[in-house]
Amino acid sequence: MKVKVNEDKCIGCGSCVSLTDAKVFDFNDDGLAYAKVDEVEVSDKEAVENAITYCPTAAIEEVK
Ligand code: SF4
Repeated sequence: MKVKVNEDKCIGCGSCVSLTDAKVFDFNDDGLAYAKVDEVEVSDKEAVENAITYCPTAAIEEVK
């Protein structure tokens, strides 16, 4: 599973960073989230799916 954050939609709320314990998402210098891993670990997959579900602006996209 690969994910990316659409910076045009992200409002920097931090939900995805918290839900993944900053293991998958972190903030860039502009205070917006980015995906810091190329491939999501299986153990983090559920947290990432929650992050996708709960992102208030639907900024997180799974890369197929
Ligand atoms: Fe940005 Fe969505 Fe993450 Fe909030 S949950 S920081 S809006 S990508």
